This record gives sequence, structure tokens and C-alpha cells, in this order.
Amino acid sequence: MRPARDWQDAAVATYRICVFCGASAGASPEYVAQAYLLGGELGRRGIGLVYGAGGVGVMGAVSDGALAAGGEVIGVIPQALMEREYGRLDLSDLRVVATMHERKALMHELADAFVVLPGGLGTLEEMFETLTWAQLGLQHKPLVVLNIGGYYTPLRNLLGHGVAEGFLTARDAALVHFADTVDEIWPALRLAGTARD
Ligand code: AMP
Repeated sequence: MRPARDWQDAAVATYRICVFCGASAGASPEYVAQAYLLGGELGRRGIGLVYGAGGVGVMGAVSDGALAAGGEVIGVIPQALMEREYGRLDLSDLRVVATMHERKALMHELADAFVVLPGGLGTLEEMFETLTWAQLGLQHKPLVVLNIGGYYTPLRNLLGHGVAEGFLTARDAALVHFADTVDEIWPALRLAGTARD
């Protein structure tokens, strides 16, 4: 168990954030630009990046940013996806696993918090499984959604709708913390990390 830390403390290199994000680049150049920015910020803050090891799309951009800033980057990928997702061989640490379940379990184990960037079904699946585990009290690591270009505004609306219609509690909807910019991620993570203490 790693010690609790202050998010402002860039010197602590034992803290890691798992980023869930698309293997595609998306329609707007802003998606990869912000992902690159986030990767760089992780590297500069001494926060390790854990992600799906892909070399393309938003995944490629966040890892490019972190590597360029000298950050630690741990990729976790099933052998069967190495080719399809352009698994990177130039990471600080590449963990090749057997199944998707192992991938997700290891990403969870390695990470202290989660940040979600724009992505497709894979990203949504990873985010929702993390949230359902939190809802059930099986994990307590904070999760922040970076709402680049308003991509996740429909998600925010859906969560509100779910509360209004009685399918989820306001407390569970509040498990999803939103940030509009990379700079907003750090206070959002601090808030999320203490919200259920
Ligand atoms: P996408 O958001 O669909 O572009 O996918 C982003 C990443 O999520 C890709 O690396 C996918 O391989 C990965 N992914 C898709 N489904 C799962 C899953 N069930 N568990 C773990 N990773 C997944």
C-alpha cells in the first residue's frame, strides 16, 4: 500500500493515474492535443501513467506526452491486441497479459486514481466497471472525467436523468467528477479522493 500524498507534490513518483481513453483520435484535434498535455503534466508532476499500451489515437497521445516529459509509463495489454492496438515497446514498463479481465484487474491494482478521456465503447466499459465497483464499495479510488470539448456533457446529463428517474442515487452519480481542463483535474481528484472518506 503506497502512502497517501498531496496532489501538489510533484516529487512523489510512486503515485500513478490510470487513464482510460480511445484507441481512435476522434473528430476534433483537441482530443489528442489535450491528451498530450495531460501526459506531459503527469510526467512533470512525477505521477506515473498506467494505460492500455496502445500507440495510436488518444491512447498514443497521452503516452507520447508522458514519455516526452520523462514520465513513468506502464502499459497493460493482452497479447492478442498487441498488433491491432499498436502496443508500444518503448514504454517504461510493458505488461503483456492473457485476457481483457487480467488487463483491467492489473490496471486497477497499479493505479491510485482514474482519469477518463474521450473514447468509445472500450473507454466507457472501463469507466463504468470502475464506477460500479465504487458504487458497491469494492474500490475507493477517485475517478475524474476530462470533458474535452464537451464530449462527456451527455454523460453528465444522463447521470442527472438517472437520479431524477430514480435509477441511481445522487451519491452514486457524484462518484463521477468532471473537469473541463487539465488544470482542473488535480483539485477534482483531491475532492474526489476525500468525498467518500
Ligand atoms: P475504445 O474506447 O473503444 O477506443 O477502446 C479503448 C481501449 O479500451 C482499447 O485499448 C480497448 O482494447 C480497451 N477495451 C475495450 N474493452 C475492454 C474491456 N472489456 N476491458 C479492458 N479494456 C477494454
